[in-house]
Amino acid sequence: MLTSICGINWGDEGKGRMVDLLSEEYDVVCRYQGGNNAGHTVINDKGKFILNLLPSGILRENVVNVLGNGMVVDIRHLTEEANRLRAQGIRITPENLKISDKAVITMPYHVLMDCLEEERLADKKFGSTRRGIAPVYADKYMKKAFRMGELLNPDLLYRRVKDIVEWKNLTVEKGYGHAPVTTEEVVEYFRTYGEPLKEYICDTGLYLNEANKAGKKIMFEAQLGALRDIDFGIYPYTSSSSTIAAYAPIGAGVPNLKIDRSIGIMKAYSTCVGEGPFTAEYFGEKAVKLREAGGEYGAATGRPRRVGPFDVVASRYGIRCQGADEIALTKLDVLSGHEELEVCTAYELNGKKLVEFPFTDVLDACKPVFETMKGWNCDISACRKPSDLPKEALDYIRFIEKACECRIRYVSVGAEREAYIKMY
Ligand code: GDP
Ligand code: MG
Repeated sequence: MLTSICGINWGDEGKGRMVDLLSEEYDVVCRYQGGNNAGHTVINDKGKFILNLLPSGILRENVVNVLGNGMVVDIRHLTEEANRLRAQGIRITPENLKISDKAVITMPYHVLMDCLEEERLADKKFGSTRRGIAPVYADKYMKKAFRMGELLNPDLLYRRVKDIVEWKNLTVEKGYGHAPVTTEEVVEYFRTYGEPLKEYICDTGLYLNEANKAGKKIMFEAQLGALRDIDFGIYPYTSSSSTIAAYAPIGAGVPNLKIDRSIGIMKAYSTCVGEGPFTAEYFGEKAVKLREAGGEYGAATGRPRRVGPFDVVASRYGIRCQGADEIALTKLDVLSGHEELEVCTAYELNGKKLVEFPFTDVLDACKPVFETMKGWNCDISACRKPSDLPKEALDYIRFIEKACECRIRYVSVGAEREAYIKMY
């Protein structure tokens, strides 16, 4: 059985915490896109963990974790992240972590180029996480990238370095006027951070196929959300990879297999990190209140997240992009303590009401149309079944469910693993 866990909104919906919860029934968890620009915060009986590259299944003893070919892997970051988790008592060995030989390596010069470009753009910057993600994906499609499998054959790899460095310096040195990248530093980087990972590198597509044949349950863990997808998101304020569930079999290395179940993770309100149109955005006091209540600061970067009420237009679109069969609605507890709650149910563009998510260019001109619902004043974080919830909270869930035309199966009411309600 193949399940995908994906983001319906702009990211940070709580995918990590849902993977941590639902992976109990799974044998394998696989990341299939993106890199260490992801930030998944997981709180369970073992402690609090922040995961950037490692799948959230790494926290479960019996789960095998895979970094798929669709990912870009910063090998220094991976080494440091794995060591940080080991210091927190998590076992990470070639038995429970497998890295695709076809995954692309994020190099220090990708991070450098990301920073140089954001600085050049100055006030027109994209709000990049500056983790080298766009430059490394660009190199992948330019066919100038290094892949993990090359680390298994260092002699061949080191012969390629000179040519790539020469090409890279056409932009780093001659374009941006920065000190050149050297062959020596690149080789040294592979020696220090690449070679120790050799035992983890394999044909993960083959591994996943075998696991599937043996009847193992496989979960695909996405990073970011539908609205950051390179094709379907708010381009160019997107990430550089496909964040959607349909890409999971490709990015994981099993394009021959089909997903059985797509679980969309959707936040009970809206948040967005970085630049780009965000129609339902709150400003001023309203924004501060919601941001503080939700602790909305980026896990990867610490940046304050932009916030707003639940956006039906964007979420319906996200659900469609993800082909979600069911929804986990997260962070409902954050909305407690309001007399009234707003929901953005449509956009207004030049006097016309839009209910379908429009092309990115017109988003800036769209104004949110809000409907108001009754809020609830009590703390709901201890609720564990639908009947524990106040009527207003149930009404809010049902309203969203109906507006989005997708069933809400889980509702989370706290960051801890067990703080959730199964609706059916
Ligand atoms: P991801 O990138 O989708 O995995 O999400 P993040 O981890 O970046 O952001 C979700 C944040 O909300 C994390 O800090 C979680 O610990 C926290 N969180 C997750 N679920 C809940 C919830 O139901 N209630 C509250 N209050 N916090 C939650
Ligand atoms: Mg996150």
